[in-house]
Amino acid sequence: MIENTVQSLKMEREQPFCAYVYDLSKLRSHVNKIMTTLPSTCQLFYAVKANSDETLLKTLAPIVRGFEVASLGEIEKVRAVDKKIPILFGGPGKTKEEIEGAIHHGVSFLHVESIYELQMVNHIASEKETTVSILLRVNLRRSVPNAQLKMAGVPTQFGIDEAEIPIAIALAKSLPNIKIHGFHFHAMSNNVDSKTHADFVNHCFDRAETWEGKFDIDISYINVGGGMGINYKELEHQFNWDDFTKRLKKILDKRNHSNWQVFFECGRYITSSCGYYAVEILDIKKNHGHYFCIIRGGSHHFRLPAAWKQNHPFTIIPIENWSYPFKRPEVNETLITVAGELCTPNDVLAKEVFVSRLRVGDILLFSYAGAYGWSISHHDFLSHPHPEQLYIQIESINSSEGKLEETSDDGIHSFVDPLILKG
Ligand SMILES: *Cc1c(COP(=O)(O)O)cnc(C)c1O
Repeated sequence: MIENTVQSLKMEREQPFCAYVYDLSKLRSHVNKIMTTLPSTCQLFYAVKANSDETLLKTLAPIVRGFEVASLGEIEKVRAVDKKIPILFGGPGKTKEEIEGAIHHGVSFLHVESIYELQMVNHIASEKETTVSILLRVNLRRSVPNAQLKMAGVPTQFGIDEAEIPIAIALAKSLPNIKIHGFHFHAMSNNVDSKTHADFVNHCFDRAETWEGKFDIDISYINVGGGMGINYKELEHQFNWDDFTKRLKKILDKRNHSNWQVFFECGRYITSSCGYYAVEILDIKKNHGHYFCIIRGGSHHFRLPAAWKQNHPFTIIPIENWSYPFKRPEVNETLITVAGELCTPNDVLAKEVFVSRLRVGDILLFSYAGAYGWSISHHDFLSHPHPEQLYIQIESINSSEGKLEETSDDGIHSFVDPLILKG
């Protein structure tokens, strides 16, 4: 279905096709499913850094419990779409201005990441004659072994070393303008295994329980972070959400902390699947015995595969039009490397991938591009035009009309020719 939509969009354009396409209906139904399957004491927040696009934030705001942010800029982006929605604010280094901004914008919880920061937050709160609700961010000694990025369990800049948590608790309790409500444990990214993820959550509860008993604090909130992953290598083996929630329910039932609210702050798992990066083939050539196809676009729009040195999955959308009087370059049944338009050999999105047929003018559709795609990329390197940002709503079979929305770089939204889209 998305393929048909992209084909139609391509026909309306003169320039080589290059766009991020977001399916907002898919985003809504995906997040609604997460919301309805989480146990009742769990709350879902969206980690804005995965993709801070305004239309996505607007789509998510009515569904999720709130947003997790890591800068004053992200706080302002969230407040621009919702003046009241709960915000969790973390980050390894916060300026005085950011902490003041967080208080000003009514952030619900600050994740405090060092003992120095505890004192700074208390100081600023006392200047403002207020009390700040905090969770202590813990850098656990243990993490999930098969996650692709680790923020804990290995030496990193995040949080307070598990061994120093007793000191931090004692200090937090003694500071008059801070109220400690619990702990924050975000520790990994891109973990695709539901069992190890549930084990990790169980371990977090274990630590929190121990500290609650030992240091006489009242815990009401445990933030177990995000980190549920996307299997970019084997699309048919994704994080098993149903298995995860089943295990989570068991853990919660066994521990019976009915007064604990459990926060999840997921980024990748929320917006990855609704986003596509669709790019036209500009050229195909054979160099040193290897085929290369060059796309209108590249790692300056979609840095994820180059950053992680992995192939990103794509499908081919055939485009039949050919308006030139000479032969259309084409390869069949061969391996091909997908390179971008940048003048660096690092601009590669997939290496040595088998294709049955590929022609100049066809479109490559990269799936799972909605998280850590545009938002982590170096947009202006080489000063090529930015991709279009398109928003589609492929409704269910019964409703025949989809809407298409377009945003320019400066965030102005306009509806463009609505297409008739069928699910
Ligand atoms: C990045 C980040 C997240 C989201 O991570 P995902 O792997 O995208 O789910 C959540 N919490 C914190 C503190 C983060 O830094």
